Amino acid sequence: MSGFVHTEKPIRLERGEGVHLYDEDGSEYLDCGASYACAPLGHSHPAVTEAARDQLERLTFVQASYPVDSRDRAHTTLEAAAPSELENVWLCNSGTEANEAALKFARSATENSKIVATMQGFHGRTMGALSTTWNSAYRDPFEPLIGDVEFVPYGDSEALAEAVDDETAALILEPIQGEGGINLPPAEYLAAAREHTEEAGAALILDEVQTGMGRTGTLWACERAGVVPDILTTAKGLANGLPAGTTLCADWIAEGAGSHNSTFSGGPVVSAAIDATVSTVVEEEIPAHAAEMGEYLESELQRNIGDTVREVRGAGLMVGIEVKRGANRVLRELALEHGILALPAGRSVVRLLPPLIMEEEHADHVVEALRDVLGEESG
Ligand SMILES: *Cc1c(COP(=O)(O)O)cnc(C)c1O
Repeated sequence: MSGFVHTEKPIRLERGEGVHLYDEDGSEYLDCGASYACAPLGHSHPAVTEAARDQLERLTFVQASYPVDSRDRAHTTLEAAAPSELENVWLCNSGTEANEAALKFARSATENSKIVATMQGFHGRTMGALSTTWNSAYRDPFEPLIGDVEFVPYGDSEALAEAVDDETAALILEPIQGEGGINLPPAEYLAAAREHTEEAGAALILDEVQTGMGRTGTLWACERAGVVPDILTTAKGLANGLPAGTTLCADWIAEGAGSHNSTFSGGPVVSAAIDATVSTVVEEEIPAHAAEMGEYLESELQRNIGDTVREVRGAGLMVGIEVKRGANRVLRELALEHGILALPAGRSVVRLLPPLIMEEEHADHVVEALRDVLGEESG
């Protein structure tokens, strides 16, 4: 029986290597979103596979209160990679769990309960994170969710000034909205978020579950705005495909965090994969490569299909193409006729989240395919 919460795609994937995936007949696909931003280093990266396999064979699991080398290394690597004020690391298994912890830590550290979140924002699907997620289709069947959440329009600094007050525990937002449509805020927005939360004594939580790990051309998207939050969460690409998330906190948050934990927090195998992934991303300057490839891809898209779509937007290798008619038909043709597996973001945006190791030839393939698919659309 197939899992009832998934919609199945007509392609059965069997193997992945680098930017490519292969189905059971051996057909090759370019991964532009099939791995959901979870494979920044590409599929089956040898450094990650080796680190995880080696740890799996030696010690698969022991609870987090017993120190083990791979977890120590994951902590050290993450501390070094995190913005310098965020040296407290909590490890978990997913993005929603990283945000769940962030919300709890912020409530505990501020002794306030109000959470300000943004319209079109996405923070996960467990009850706490879901309460700060905008899309009513995800929320409505599960109401009532946790209370005291106020939504403000994304990108509107004045709305932040009004909503964030001295009863606010946290403001949570994505530096660039992913699921909500690849929405980039005005340049001064994150700085305004920083200023208003600081004034109110509230925690600024930046959800970098999708934008982190070099996706936008810097290791963390908040670097682009020169803003350091009180809490930064990341997951998706953190262990290059193994289930991992982390909540990185400033001292005042960590000191007031209260009691929180999870059995699998910092498991040895996933820790080994986190260490290998983050070290490789940093040492091989993957974010700079993502910046360069992103610029190339975006300018080629503008040049070749700019006139046939509403907008091409993004940062690094997080690219959204707002098409004139539904995104689903475009995605289906990209997959079945051109061997490119991409994602939607809402109804009208085709979202590209390729492995960050992609090269110009792969970008060219995407541009050519889109020109073909969209050319038919306008004709
Ligand atoms: C995917 C995502 C989440 C949820 O992560 P899961 O690992 O699916 O729980 C949270 N925030 C953002 C910005 C995401 O893209």
